[in-house]
Amino acid sequence: MTEIKKGKMLYEGKAKRLFATDNPDELVMEFKDSLTAFDAVKKDTLSGKGTINNKVSALLMGALAEAGIESTFIKLLDDTHSLCRNVEIIQVEVIVRYEAQGSFCRRYGVEAGLPIDPPLCEIGYKNDDLHDPFFTDDIASFMGLATRDELAKIRYMALTTGEKLREIYGAQGVKLIDFKLEFGRFTPHGTNETRIILADEVTSDTCRLVDAKTGEKLDKDLFRFDLGDVGEGYQKLLKKLGG
Ligand code: ADP
Ligand code: MG
Repeated sequence: MTEIKKGKMLYEGKAKRLFATDNPDELVMEFKDSLTAFDAVKKDTLSGKGTINNKVSALLMGALAEAGIESTFIKLLDDTHSLCRNVEIIQVEVIVRYEAQGSFCRRYGVEAGLPIDPPLCEIGYKNDDLHDPFFTDDIASFMGLATRDELAKIRYMALTTGEKLREIYGAQGVKLIDFKLEFGRFTPHGTNETRIILADEVTSDTCRLVDAKTGEKLDKDLFRFDLGDVGEGYQKLLKKLGG
């Protein structure tokens, strides 16, 4: 196996750091131990969280790849690092909902727990300063963030990914309530062929999850609303997924 060199740090976000490699198509992604909520108004550090999320995301993106859903994940490098494809992130956040919870209830005055079937897919502007406002395809394309064709593709991919995730989680007794995805444009070096693939991460930070039997929460709501032992919840999910 060829050694992957962790080069210059390209970006540091709330949960991860990205590093260049010798290959322009590939990045090293490092998962940090930080926890943030409400656009980083609430912050903490949880030792071991980076390792858990790195592994959870690898397991889920690996399973999605087997189901024909391409993502940026290539392989695990060690506890906190993965190798991934270098994409141009499309600055939208895509949320798929199977049940009304969180911001959806606050925004529309809907009762928490209301089932949403067929699922809803909403696309928001990825911008923390503006609190990721929900917008329409017209506005996203007016702002030059993505074309209408790209947005239609993203919506289709998000719903397909959701179906597969529901299956993967469901098989382990975990119910997926809603989740957030990011997508990127991948243009392999030396080509001008671009395809949209799933990017970023799929973890307890980005999915709202409960144990289907006990109703126990396994996601970031534990941290958001001080509902219990965050590390234990995150670790339980990893264990259920076979990690
Ligand atoms: P944020 O604070 O913006 O949520 P994160 O710490 O979650 O940041 O992630 C770091 C950044 O890396 C995010 O802006 C995300 O969009 C971006 N990113 C994730 N995956 C990739 C990738 N494969 N290629 C390029 N950028 C990526
Ligand atoms: Mg993020």
